[in-house]
Amino acid sequence: MKRAALGPLTLCPVTTAPDNSLILDAVRRVWGFDDLRPLQARAIELAVAGRDGLVVLPTGGGKSLCYQAPPLVTGRLTVVLSPLIALMRDQVRGLELNGYPAAALHSGLDAEEARATVARLRAGELKLILCAPERAVNPGFKSLLAELADSGRLGAIAIDEAHCISQWGHDFRPEYRRLRELREVAPGVGMQAFTATATPRVREDIVRQLGLRDEHGALVVPMVGDFDRPNLTYRVRARRGDGAEQASEAIGAMHERGEGGAIVYCMSRAKTEELAGKLRAAGHDAEAYHAGLNPDKRHGVERRFTNEQLDVVCATVAFGMGIDRSNVRLVAHANLPKSVEAYQQEAGRAGRDGLEAECLLLTAPGDSVRWRQLIERSAGETGASDDSTAAQIELLNEMQRFAGTLVCRHKALCEHFGQAFTKESCGACDVCLGETESEPDGQRIAQMILSGVARTGQSYGAGHVVDVLRGSGSEKIGRAGHDRLSVFGLMKDRRKAEVMAFVDQLVAAGALEVGEFRTLRFGARGAAVMRGEETVRLGLPMGTRSAGSERPERRSRASSELEARPLSVEEKRLFESLRALRKSIAEELGAPPYVVFSDATLRELARSRPADTRAMLRVKGVGPAKLEQFGEAFLAAIASG
Ligand code: ADP
Ligand code: ZN
Repeated sequence: MKRAALGPLTLCPVTTAPDNSLILDAVRRVWGFDDLRPLQARAIELAVAGRDGLVVLPTGGGKSLCYQAPPLVTGRLTVVLSPLIALMRDQVRGLELNGYPAAALHSGLDAEEARATVARLRAGELKLILCAPERAVNPGFKSLLAELADSGRLGAIAIDEAHCISQWGHDFRPEYRRLRELREVAPGVGMQAFTATATPRVREDIVRQLGLRDEHGALVVPMVGDFDRPNLTYRVRARRGDGAEQASEAIGAMHERGEGGAIVYCMSRAKTEELAGKLRAAGHDAEAYHAGLNPDKRHGVERRFTNEQLDVVCATVAFGMGIDRSNVRLVAHANLPKSVEAYQQEAGRAGRDGLEAECLLLTAPGDSVRWRQLIERSAGETGASDDSTAAQIELLNEMQRFAGTLVCRHKALCEHFGQAFTKESCGACDVCLGETESEPDGQRIAQMILSGVARTGQSYGAGHVVDVLRGSGSEKIGRAGHDRLSVFGLMKDRRKAEVMAFVDQLVAAGALEVGEFRTLRFGARGAAVMRGEETVRLGLPMGTRSAGSERPERRSRASSELEARPLSVEEKRLFESLRALRKSIAEELGAPPYVVFSDATLRELARSRPADTRAMLRVKGVGPAKLEQFGEAFLAAIASG
């Protein structure tokens, strides 16, 4: 994992601190949350003060509140740019149910609907407008924004999924580049950017591209939240065949634990169809989801998944952004993702409600070769620069290292995003749970690899050293005379991917280090391991056992103490009946269930069994607007349940 240029973890002080209690009041009143999370408070203060900022929070970290709350305090409109058209409508419904006037503008609206929304904007009826980036930069919308800004009614411009602006990121979208034009349209208005996935380099790029500046005119220091998601369990497994059987087992295990949805990410459209077919044949309720579907079918899958009428979606990674629901209990990858950022974001769709969820990554040696071909082909087609292609390949290498290295997955992810992870064991990944296949011959293998590095003069990259050890007959080896070394062919019975993974593990263990031009040389512990004075443990992700089977004991790690305690049989029955009630209300409203109440809220209702509206209001996620609409029905269900 690259650890260069650690991102700043501290927050920049907000000089003009507005009255925090006003913000808290609004948040309690509208959303029924007790408190703001630490970074939310700072981000909201910043936006209320009209300043620029970049907020980096993991999925589920609560970014939306950061741009939804300020208009309630300032009384001015926030414009939110987001690429996720599929999710806009749900967000608007959720806000409306809280009594918060919001709307969306995107290509899915007909001319009449769009006109009506613009009229509401002009009339000052809305506090928040969600808008697709390509729409925001069209001349008509720009002049509307200018008009709102000039009359002092525009409070903030928020940019969601801001990593899309950077070509160093994993989801570069050219239309995002033009968003900086909005700065000229609304010069005095603060702009806040939000992303769940940004390495230090991407962060810097976002700040620069959008010209985000503090009150002294300096580029802003990003505000970076806690990246660990303790409620997620990460597992990496060697894939058997196309992984259908392993995915099916994991889905089965998920159902045994309770209700919830699963997303299975695949590399191609054809694979999503194939896998969905196999999962259906195995008795699961599964559908494919990709950009090649006709819009009706696609929206149908989105709707049914968010409405909890469909359990499993097999999606292409390129298109999986539009599917979301807060109680996704399993995210499986049928292939190696193309970067750690992409992995973190996709896996991050699991457990957004803070309750436990599984992330299963299936990988086989051919995956990275296929990605490489795709990256190179797409560079050939789009004429992308060599720099950008090299950056993509480096991102892929990092991902490969993540999968092959046996350090705690939570730790590796945190460190990738520039954060320290100090816990000894996370208790929630294959490595810490001892589910990896330890290599019995580890010490000897370590010594063979170290010899390979020593004999080739500590001046070649991993690929070459591994080729020498495996006795491959490349021209480069012949030219260097390395086929005459005693180490040549010493590891010919091992697969290349395996030896590469061992090299990465030796780097992680400090026995090797990567020097200039990616050459391998001895690390601090190298000589001692070579002499057998120190031992290293090598291993591989579990290849034989499947993810769902033999779940070892582990402590529960939901977000709060209360949420962590499992429901009693009694409470579980009530929870299920509240879920049924929620579903029927949602159907009546034509909205997904989670916009009515989240699973976390239902659980708390089942536990605390409020007897009246006052008690119900104390439950997290219940605000006055929802209380008024749904309170009676839920209280009745609780009283009779
Ligand atoms: P993100 O956009 O960062 O992925 P969301 O904004 O969707 O995250 O929030 C994730 C979940 O956390 C939602 O269910 C939301 O209701 C909940 N949440 C956000 N802020 C708070 C808070 N201050 N207190 C309690 N729950 C919160
Ligand atoms: Zn761990």
